[in-house]
Amino acid sequence: MTQQVNNSLWSLSRTSKIHTNILDHKEIVDVAIIGGGYTGCSAALRLAEAGTKVALLEAEYSGFGGSGRNVGLTNAGMWINPKEIGKVIGKDRGEILNQFLSTAPDLVHGLIDKHGIECEALRNGTLHLAHNETGLKALKEKIRQINEEGKLVKLLSKAETFELTAAENYIGAIQDMRAGTIQPLEYCNGLMLAAKSAGANIYTASPALKINYKHDQWHIKTPKGMVVAHQVLIATNAYLEHIYPQLKKSFTPMYYSQMATDPLSADQLKNFLPGKNGTWDTRTVMRSYRTDAAGRLIIGTIGNIQSKNALVFKSWADKMIRETFPKVGPVNWAYKWAGCIACSENYVPNIHDLGQGLYSISGFSGRGISPGTAFGQVMAEYLLGHVKSKDLPVKLETIKPISFNKIRGLFYECGSQLSRFYDHVI
Ligand SMILES: Cc1cc2nc3c(=O)[nH]c(=O)nc-3n(C[C@H](O)[C@H](O)[C@H](O)COP(=O)(O)OP(=O)(O)OC[C@H]3O[C@@H](n4cnc5c(N)ncnc54)[C@H](O)[C@@H]3O)c2cc1C
Repeated sequence: MTQQVNNSLWSLSRTSKIHTNILDHKEIVDVAIIGGGYTGCSAALRLAEAGTKVALLEAEYSGFGGSGRNVGLTNAGMWINPKEIGKVIGKDRGEILNQFLSTAPDLVHGLIDKHGIECEALRNGTLHLAHNETGLKALKEKIRQINEEGKLVKLLSKAETFELTAAENYIGAIQDMRAGTIQPLEYCNGLMLAAKSAGANIYTASPALKINYKHDQWHIKTPKGMVVAHQVLIATNAYLEHIYPQLKKSFTPMYYSQMATDPLSADQLKNFLPGKNGTWDTRTVMRSYRTDAAGRLIIGTIGNIQSKNALVFKSWADKMIRETFPKVGPVNWAYKWAGCIACSENYVPNIHDLGQGLYSISGFSGRGISPGTAFGQVMAEYLLGHVKSKDLPVKLETIKPISFNKIRGLFYECGSQLSRFYDHVI
């Protein structure tokens, strides 16, 4: 994967600052963490709070990866329904994972409150919008499965959906009050700052270039320094570089792109998500809509807006706004960016046990704000010896390469381009 500069709205509009250093010495710690997104920062925070000596190595800067480019929906659960999770990872483990992910947004919003993280957090419920009868049927089944655990989500009628979204052409929605929206990069910065304040040593612009096991310890080489640790957590998800290339075989990279406008006028905002909920829809080539605190309109869809053949994105976006939010009127697209998602084979995250105290977490499959925070924390508890492997939300596994990995990625990319082309010209 070619790394792309993070030119997201989130990166350009962030106000928080973190002072971190480049690693330029040899450091001996209990646990080393590679990757400074939600997963790595959350694990570092928990470990440091427990008094563990921890060093976090980030190749670039906080939120360079998915954590600084995403839509910002603090959703509960994964993409696949609770019962499907049971089918792919087993009933008992599925129950643990479903419960774990159902409460993961509480963890995120709790950390935001506890550490006073200023990240535009709104916990007003997310909306999963049905674009046709098939989509509505799928949402009804999803509600049935989620609500077996209690009345957690509700179905909105077409009129109720319109009241909250002002979106034409949607015939119902799931409203999930467990979730909300954040400025995702500010949240990542806040987690990194909290980890630093708790005593974790954070090094940015310090990529792990090589990792070797000798004399019962891991030796991680960076351009100017070295970390020696008994245990290591690789938390690089789709943005893995330099080390352990085999991990890339365990997920399919898939791009998701977003565009944002300048802040809308008060009149325009009455006609674009007046309820200020974060939303996405049931289309195969999904669309997402949200606003930020400044009142910018933000839309997203599958595909890579930074690729050479991305010319149809802008006309697609203009046409989509005309048709779905006709009263908003013309808008100026001031920001566009893409991010890479690591899709695991079964859309459930993997914890890989790579031997001798080396672990990795990846495969969030586009659901990583709440899950990444929660997996980072539970993995820290495991490394501390507070949680047994049988109680982890997924089984510890060895790397299982996905077959036809690249072909699947290309299929998504071409499929989404074709769909936008179709939407644009028809
Ligand atoms: C466009 C997009 C939209 C999304 N929308 C949502 C959403 O609305 N809700 C949701 O829940 N999830 C969403 N996701 C998923 C979510 O953003 C990710 O699952 C989550 O950010 C993963 O966090 P992470 O910490 O595991 O990895 P990342 O945030 O990707 O962090 C990995 C870090 O590792 C670093 N790294 C890589 N190699 C090395 C090395 N050798 N040495 C040191 N550091 C290294 C990278 O620089 C990077 O900063 C979305 C993802 C994308 C891309």
